[in-house]
Amino acid sequence: MALVVQKFGGTSVADAERIRNVARIITDTYEAGNSVVVVLSAQGDTTDDLIAKAEELNPKAGKREMDMLLSTGEQISIALCAMTIEGMGYPVVSLTGWQAGMQTNSAYGNARIKRIETERIRVELDQKRIVIVAGFQGINKYGDVTTLGRGGSDTSAVALAAELRADLCQIYTDVDGVYTADPRKVAGAKKLDEITYDEMLELATLGAQVLHNRSVEMAKRYGVNLEVVSSFSGKPGTKVKEVVTTVEKSHVSGVARDKNIARLALVGLADEPGIAFKVFSLLAKERVNVDIILQSIGRGDTKDISFTVTKSDMEQARKVLEEHKAAIGFDHIDVTDNIAKVSIVGAGMINNPGVAANMFEALFAAGINIHMISTSEIKVSVLVDVVDADRAVQVVHEKFFSEA
Ligand code: ADP
Ligand code: ASP
Ligand code: MG
Repeated sequence: MALVVQKFGGTSVADAERIRNVARIITDTYEAGNSVVVVLSAQGDTTDDLIAKAEELNPKAGKREMDMLLSTGEQISIALCAMTIEGMGYPVVSLTGWQAGMQTNSAYGNARIKRIETERIRVELDQKRIVIVAGFQGINKYGDVTTLGRGGSDTSAVALAAELRADLCQIYTDVDGVYTADPRKVAGAKKLDEITYDEMLELATLGAQVLHNRSVEMAKRYGVNLEVVSSFSGKPGTKVKEVVTTVEKSHVSGVARDKNIARLALVGLADEPGIAFKVFSLLAKERVNVDIILQSIGRGDTKDISFTVTKSDMEQARKVLEEHKAAIGFDHIDVTDNIAKVSIVGAGMINNPGVAANMFEALFAAGINIHMISTSEIKVSVLVDVVDADRAVQVVHEKFFSEA
């Protein structure tokens, strides 16, 4: 007998018919003799709809109240799914995040799981019940409801799988697995049979929303046996693991795109020591995360520094730098969010110097201008105009994955 954690995303539980479908997958797993813990997301666009409702009443609503609101979506799903399974004649119980012992820090809207008290779940499993847990939510030390950040139900599932030492954690979604690029946007995207934790973590962080990046980080840390599968097709999915055995033709595993970024450029800084320190320590104090940084070569006595942040941090970054304009000493700031980051990821690229050049060639051939470049052992990212982003992903993907 195995312990299986199964997570179903929003599309998978969007309406009554789909909940019945999910209930069948769950009860089949139970019938096969497994203990089953299920994690559910909110139905369809519920979370977005709740955000819209809040904006109508108070666009500046506090994060605590937002979490109180957003956590309700998942509770609808677990109750509906549990009653469906109950109607099929199986023993089942639904639990909110806090009933399931999901304890988090107090960062409302983006909380981190600190501990999971699994006693209640274990008692229910001992009584042979199917346990259905609300994803994306927990409770902090003040007894307040928290949420884990958009897409966070994946992390709820992997955290539970790690804590319960589950034999398998299955992330059921609306595509057949992890692809070489978003299969809904990129023609010719191919399903991967397996991918390493490291590559998946990069892809998720660089914009592939199929898994929440913190879920992958956690799966790696605890060695969770993780797979991404379709709720609908019944086809084999993608295994996410430490080492993969597939002989890959390409040194690249996938292409990702992120439109949720902004670029700030400080123009006319003094070309002397200590300037970067001043700029980035100010931003760090404001808890603004900086991603790609580019410093120009000094011209005479001035230089420029450009860097990227997430869109939501753009205004705060601009404000703090403007406030310290005199102390830092610069001419002006250019700010834009009409940009996107396009990245290739692959563990094989470190030993293959031509990979980055191939990416740049594809962009050049398509007439797409690159504003910034950043590389690491397993990725190359470029910044392009947002209007070019989708075409950039397509041509880069073709360069590495077309059969010809
Ligand atoms: P869920 O509601 O099941 O959590 P998400 O919408 O969060 O589903 O994630 C699944 C979506 O991720 C897919 O519908 C797909 O459009 C998108 N996606 C982006 N990049 C990839 C990729 N490389 N492989 C698979 N899906 C991807
Ligand atoms: N319902 C939440 C969201 O839409 C969490 C999730 O789906 O994973 O972000
Ligand atoms: Mg998701």
